[in-house]
Amino acid sequence: MSYSTPALGFAYDALEPHIDARTMEIHHDKHHVGYTTKLNAAVSGTSFDGKDPAALLADLKALPDSIRGAVQNNGGGHVNHALFWEILTPGGSPEPEGDIKSAIESAFGGIAGFKKLFSDSAATRFGSGWAWLVSSSGKLKVYSTANQDSPLSQGDIPLLGLDVWEHAYYLNYQNRRPDYIAAFWNLVNWDIVASKFKNA
Ligand code: MN
Repeated sequence: MSYSTPALGFAYDALEPHIDARTMEIHHDKHHVGYTTKLNAAVSGTSFDGKDPAALLADLKALPDSIRGAVQNNGGGHVNHALFWEILTPGGSPEPEGDIKSAIESAFGGIAGFKKLFSDSAATRFGSGWAWLVSSSGKLKVYSTANQDSPLSQGDIPLLGLDVWEHAYYLNYQNRRPDYIAAFWNLVNWDIVASKFKNA
């Protein structure tokens, strides 16, 4: 039983001009596939093979030393990217609605305040990593993680994530990470974020 990389729900060029087709193709077909392949290699032949990768990330301490780092990095890479493709949609839905909107307003003082906090978190993550909106014991929080570290490993449920590794934006934006972050808001699928919030 091995993990597989989920297909994109849209064409490589569907997110243009915000994220270019070549970046999407390399990001999905090379980077994400690479994490999935390495996750499979790490758990192959162990009792953890085929276990829900989110469950593995939620309890890294349960893993033997020999595979813990590989699961943290490549299991994280696999799960983080699966979420990322899910919360992106061509054309986006610029503003959240309903319960998730109310919860964001209550936690961050408004949608604009939330977007600024999240964008700042993404912009100030030094080196490679992710910015997150998570449900943490029922409360909404914004923070960033390094590398492929998942919020699941600190007991939180990721609702929205933004990949700020250079491979996510460098072809189109080079060093202009803030421009990539600003463009991201044109692509967010708030229906999916709302449904993750409901399930959290
Ligand atoms: Mn990536």
